[in-house]
Amino acid sequence: MNSLTENKLRDLIATSVFEIVKTEEIAKLTADGLLSCPEDIDDITREGWRKLKHTCEPRCLMKIGPGDGPENYRCRKPHAFKDNPDPTSHQYIKIPCNLSDASKEILTRAGIRRPPSYEGAQDEHYSIPYFQPTRHMAPCITNAQCNMSPIIPIYFIMFKSMCNAQIISQTSGVSKYILKYIAKIDQCNYVFVFANGRNEDLRVGVHFLHNIKISTSAINESKALQNKRYKHHPTGTEIPDIQCLHFILGYSEVTTNLTFLPNNTGPFELRTQHTVRLDQRGSVTRNTSSDDAAGE
Ligand SMILES: [Zn+2]
Repeated sequence: MNSLTENKLRDLIATSVFEIVKTEEIAKLTADGLLSCPEDIDDITREGWRKLKHTCEPRCLMKIGPGDGPENYRCRKPHAFKDNPDPTSHQYIKIPCNLSDASKEILTRAGIRRPPSYEGAQDEHYSIPYFQPTRHMAPCITNAQCNMSPIIPIYFIMFKSMCNAQIISQTSGVSKYILKYIAKIDQCNYVFVFANGRNEDLRVGVHFLHNIKISTSAINESKALQNKRYKHHPTGTEIPDIQCLHFILGYSEVTTNLTFLPNNTGPFELRTQHTVRLDQRGSVTRNTSSDDAAGE
């Protein structure tokens, strides 16, 4: 992508409801039939406020500690301007990329990586952008109260529903982001079963799980479960009727034009799904079934 395309693309993104219909675009939106009268602009802004405003609820919280108090939860959505170092211009925020210590050492020796100046410092730098994925943050007016997720306004005007759009740079950043969204399944909750020792009744309880697609949150939810007295009880997952129907009718959960090809690049002996057998003469035979070869 050249810089002209990149500039065009990032200018499409809006992060506040006041920017859904921009003054300079009213004539074009009217000519395209997306606005019929000036009152439409009020309606679109009102709809945007109702549907796109971010309000914290259990679904957006990630668990950052094993306890139950509010200090153990944090909203995972980057704030439209509070988390933007300079909301007056386009910004690219570094996404954590956990390379192994061995890879980091090799990149340092090759002169590609400059290690942090002290333990815990945030100034680690890679001279090749590939190793440092970033997330784009669009400019945002600082008195906007909506903390809206980034959208492409014309899609909202057409569909009147959330059409989230996020620019992520570099391959590892894109693959991590996309995998988290569409290939990982959020368990959402766990259902546990109790037996009442006195009257043989069975009781079923449900516990909400906060964003276990995020590793930190999943680890803390798992720690929290270990503190519960029902930690060894049988558990399941509660899903809505409509999701049951999807499973029964064989609908896919996600529709995408991406093709996923699992390709384990880890050392052969560390691949979790790889089995190694010895034949009768003691030679190592490699299992070449598709599941096995794909690895994890
Ligand atoms: Zn939130």
